[in-house]
Amino acid sequence: MVEIKTDPALDAMRQAGRVVAHALAAVQQAAAVGVRLLELDEVARAVLAEAGARSPFLGYRPSFAPTPFPAVICTSVNDAVVHGIPDGYRLRDGDLLSVDCGAELDGWTGDAAVSFTLGTPRPADLALIAATRAALDAGIAAALVGNRVGDISHAVGKVAHAARCGMPTDFGGHGIGRRMHEDPGVPNRGRPGHGYRLRHGLVLAIEPMLLAGGRDDYHTAADGWTLRTTDGSRAAHIEHTVAITDEGPRILTLP
Ligand code: MG
Ligand code: MG
Repeated sequence: MVEIKTDPALDAMRQAGRVVAHALAAVQQAAAVGVRLLELDEVARAVLAEAGARSPFLGYRPSFAPTPFPAVICTSVNDAVVHGIPDGYRLRDGDLLSVDCGAELDGWTGDAAVSFTLGTPRPADLALIAATRAALDAGIAAALVGNRVGDISHAVGKVAHAARCGMPTDFGGHGIGRRMHEDPGVPNRGRPGHGYRLRHGLVLAIEPMLLAGGRDDYHTAADGWTLRTTDGSRAAHIEHTVAITDEGPRILTLP
């Protein structure tokens, strides 16, 4: 069931989204060659605690997961696409890191992700990140009253296709509100003019995941969570929580 949010609810979700943005900014600032992924989780935990926010990631256990998620961020390095678990891995020069974070504040949830490089970047990684950002921007630009979910999906998929990137077909964006994952689903490919009609008060997490190798294939790692590209190519993942409004798309997970 799709829940359309009231204007006060959108404002409350903006506050939750701001906490997510601050946590991601703090993580990106702390991330450096030699830093352990677990240290980045500590940074995000501190930001959430300071804001009085709860983590919708910590203890989360969707149907596909063998264990509750043990952290407040996902840290996906290089060929990891999404859902990487922060561990003792120390970041290395040239790594590509995607960080996903959620926050629940006063009963409302925000969800966003960033991708960036450590140390000296590979040019191909910068291009992959730029394409992922462009796919997200195209999706947000299509998040207009009167459009349909398929218009967002199509806009995202078109950019990924033009960049010759693959995407995991089973994972994508979603409605969001009191819970992190609500209806409708927002696939990263779709047919324009199809799907749920967008209206004022609908809030969606839009989250392209681009695979540099150009194939859609991924597998789940032994931890039961991390999705990795099957061809070993690198992946990027960027996400915002976006409200559809009569005034145009409102990004709720900006600082
Ligand atoms: Mg997310
Ligand atoms: Mg999400």
